Amino acid sequence: MLDIKHTICPSCSVGCGLNIVSKDGTVVGSYPYKRHPINEGKNCLNGRNSILQFDNQIEEPSIVKNGELEGSDCETVLNIVKDQLASIDKNELAIICSGNSTNEELDKIKEFADGFGCEKIGFYGYNFPNFSADVASYDDIASANTILAIGDIYRENPLLARRIVLSKENGAKLINLDDVEKSITSLNADEFIQFEGHLDDKIDALKSELDENSIIIANKVCCKDDFVSLESLAEGTGAKLLPVFNAPNMKGAMNRMDSWDAEEVKNIIDDSKVLIVVKDNPLEYLSKDDIKGKGFIVNISNEDNAFAKISDVILPGKSWAEKTGTFTNCEGVEQCFDISAEIENDNLSEVEIFDELA
Ligand code: SF4
Repeated sequence: MLDIKHTICPSCSVGCGLNIVSKDGTVVGSYPYKRHPINEGKNCLNGRNSILQFDNQIEEPSIVKNGELEGSDCETVLNIVKDQLASIDKNELAIICSGNSTNEELDKIKEFADGFGCEKIGFYGYNFPNFSADVASYDDIASANTILAIGDIYRENPLLARRIVLSKENGAKLINLDDVEKSITSLNADEFIQFEGHLDDKIDALKSELDENSIIIANKVCCKDDFVSLESLAEGTGAKLLPVFNAPNMKGAMNRMDSWDAEEVKNIIDDSKVLIVVKDNPLEYLSKDDIKGKGFIVNISNEDNAFAKISDVILPGKSWAEKTGTFTNCEGVEQCFDISAEIENDNLSEVEIFDELA
């Protein structure tokens, strides 16, 4: 029998609702969550394709030998991790989290780190630094007279782009900045400015374009300083700022721990003997040589990818459809969601894993 449950889309930080269709514990489809206030009856292809992650998963705790995963069990793998933790000093542990974990899971991981005395806990923030200032709301897009979009919002965050389209129909001007030659957003913009390397030299020319009725939406920055430049541009002109992330709970992670860039993660790996990575794939931003052979890698993820092959042990944790908790979307709204598919397995949740390790 088909089972249909509401959840929050895991494919970007806009926070759209999504319906998951499962049959006998297997996810078989998705369709838009019609009454959800953010996506108002629609989901983009990225969102609908979120269920493709179930096609290629690690299903059981594993020990990795010569790049091959050997199936094991929770107790054996947890004991290996406990032995590793018992053999190191508190400064030799690093924990890389991600915006793919719920707020409740991040709180639990933080509690474990505090108990161990580990200060090297953070996440890869795709060059966005920690910031706590107020951000714009989605309603601000509708009322803006000028929208400055950095990155390809139309492609990466279509349900946000939908609001830009409506605002443009009401007369708003769309300016797009990107370091690519063209994109869906650039082709739909009233003005396109291509930059190379960093945004800095383009910022001054934009000051006269923006005022308190403007909004800056950025889903891409090349370095932390680029974001600081955007913050200054917003402050100087009165424009509102809305950073948009590619992980559903990056805002929640940002509220709780350090946002690292690739160089910072690399240095932290260099300085650690045990590395716990939770629902992240460092090979998306570091090379194999930056990671392999540096320390013992505990990979808490069910993603069967190249990083799994260079890890030492794997605990799959729970997939997003098996989780209950909250994600904080990019406008700062915390949304609660429940288990959307009753997938049968004996894997411990991330909260249970860190309870066991504490
Ligand atoms: S815009 Fe983002 S949150 Fe919304 S459906 Fe698309 S990928 Fe999911």
